[in-house]
Amino acid sequence: MSEKYRFETLCLHSGNDPNLFINSMAPPIHRTSAFLFKDTKHAADLFTLKKSGNIYSRIMNPTQQMLEERLASLEGGAASLALSSGTAAVYYTIINICSTGEEIIAAKNLYGGTYTMFDSILTQFGITVKFVDQSNPNNFEKAITSQTRGIYIEAIGNPSLDFMDIEAVSGIAQKYNLPLIVDATFTTPYLLKSIEYGADIVVHSLSKWIGGHGTAIGGAVIDAGKFNWKDPKFKLYNEPDVCYHGIRYAHDFKEQNRPAFAVRMRLVPLRNLGASISPDNAWIFLQGLETLPIRMERHCQNAFETAKYLKTHPNIKWVRYPGLKEDQSYPVASRYLKKGFGGMVVFGIKGGEKAGAQFIDNLKLFSHAANVGDAKSLAIHPASTTHVQLSAKQREEGGVNDDLVRLSIGIEHIDDIMKDLKQALEKI
Ligand SMILES: *Cc1c(COP(=O)(O)O)cnc(C)c1O
Repeated sequence: MSEKYRFETLCLHSGNDPNLFINSMAPPIHRTSAFLFKDTKHAADLFTLKKSGNIYSRIMNPTQQMLEERLASLEGGAASLALSSGTAAVYYTIINICSTGEEIIAAKNLYGGTYTMFDSILTQFGITVKFVDQSNPNNFEKAITSQTRGIYIEAIGNPSLDFMDIEAVSGIAQKYNLPLIVDATFTTPYLLKSIEYGADIVVHSLSKWIGGHGTAIGGAVIDAGKFNWKDPKFKLYNEPDVCYHGIRYAHDFKEQNRPAFAVRMRLVPLRNLGASISPDNAWIFLQGLETLPIRMERHCQNAFETAKYLKTHPNIKWVRYPGLKEDQSYPVASRYLKKGFGGMVVFGIKGGEKAGAQFIDNLKLFSHAANVGDAKSLAIHPASTTHVQLSAKQREEGGVNDDLVRLSIGIEHIDDIMKDLKQALEKI
């Protein structure tokens, strides 16, 4: 700093060199709210979208951008957006497609929070979600009306672990030119590349296996970049946006890495509703992604061994794991999942809800927590916790039996996992 400034000024300005490059091996955390404009023309070009660049971290930040590029490349998508949570990613996806009076068709075996958003919150804005029994893909087609604007599924349903025949649903979506949205949190791009099977938009909770250590909340949306938004029924893409001098999102972005859906999500929901990811959390997910493949491999191995063990235990009524040959999901899941069937195992215990609670209290190594995808093994009883806000009928329809215990199998040594399950079951 060449000029001599007073103390108060130095407090603000000394050591601050925006041009400083440090050859950091790990991604730098860009802990800044805003970015310097080179001059007024540069600022105007950014604001009028003539140029793409950083303005303010609610909209874009280099650490976030690095995460977005990594996620887009891992999913085989054209662009991605990182957000403050998986929940925000789901919400922004829907409102980036639908306005009042329009509809989404969704599978009914969704994550509890998503179900509640669709069932009770979107209705406040006049957006209707019709739930269908996903076990027969034709049910999606039957529910389509002139107001339908998209189809929403989870690759592996939570918590019943039914695997979705993505290609079958994609065929229906394509026939009616509707975007297919897949929440692929339970598979991660390591186990399943949903876009290869016809997904137009992939949603993730990064908080689970991608972060992988239960240390941060985040979400992401990946745009495959191949959907035809020029269809006039998508008003948000074809009518001029007055906030941006009459831009029409389906028509005015030609570059491959700026597909209409992702561009609109950044410029409208993210910019004006503000569920941005912090650079610190973006960094945590970048680090998580580095070890995703080896962690997933171990999660899958351990979960498979756990499922086989529980299957033989006399105190267990039933076990669901999509990798068990006799599981109802296996015929479909085995067509898609070539590297493993995920880290989740669910089962019903003899003695119902009471025995389930006892089992959870007996566990020593497993943690009782409302999370999945941690490196550590977790257990929970969904009917009394994560899905308690649903009615008994909704729970039953979503496959959440009262006796269901959900395990998120960690990457500990399998012998220790087995030992803990064994002692917890013996004491019932
Ligand atoms: C956890 C989860 C979400 C919500 O994500 P958050 O990051 O917790 O907001 C959405 N979908 C699925 C399948 C999830 O497991």
